[in-house]
Amino acid sequence: MYEAEREELVEILQSKGIKDENVLRAIKKVERHKFVPETILFHAYLDKALPIGDNQTISQPYTVAFMTEALAIQKGDKVLEIGTGSGYQAAILLEMGCEVYSIERISNIYNRTLKLFDQMRLRAALRCSDGTIGWSDYAPYDKIIVTAAGPSVPNALKRQLKVGGKLVMPVGEKSSQSLVVLTKTGEDEFEAVSHPNFLFVPLIGHEGWEKK
Ligand code: SAH
Repeated sequence: MYEAEREELVEILQSKGIKDENVLRAIKKVERHKFVPETILFHAYLDKALPIGDNQTISQPYTVAFMTEALAIQKGDKVLEIGTGSGYQAAILLEMGCEVYSIERISNIYNRTLKLFDQMRLRAALRCSDGTIGWSDYAPYDKIIVTAAGPSVPNALKRQLKVGGKLVMPVGEKSSQSLVVLTKTGEDEFEAVSHPNFLFVPLIGHEGWEKK
């Protein structure tokens, strides 16, 4: 279902500069309509963020593609995601052959996505907790993706990244952020590249924003 819509979405992402063939292939394959509320199903293949309840959103496909491309994903990468949300980003990573660990802090959202993954036979390790402290049991990770915006990159996440690994996260004010791509070049050394003008929901937790 919706194959033509997905094809069209891939063309839009290409026109916006996404080049990674594996990312484009995954976007073409993963059924985004299964990750959005039924009431807005017909919006599933617009290049837009959409509400998923509890004041949270499924990220815009362009943003998902941009972040995934920035991580230079290789098949077999062990990836930690902070902010499971709808599960769409995690599903893209699974489709690309990653081993996925994903943390969500809102129990409603966590439970819904856990059930969806079970129904869709998507195999990821999901956990309900504060992702700003990471998931040390399975560290270190090849890649870390944070899909909510914080004031700075949590130290716990920097520690849990492999040397040579990459982390992508929106960092800045609550009203606007830059996507920061870190490459871990040594035990405590990082190279950073920053891409301005993104907008994410807030990362709330120990090394994020305080809950209002
Ligand atoms: N990757 C998601 C995007 C969801 S929006 C998708 O593909 O749909 C970001 C999510 O991060 C929200 O569900 C929010 O509840 C969650 N979040 C915010 N702070 C968090 C934290 N400290 N730990 C884990 N999840 C967090």
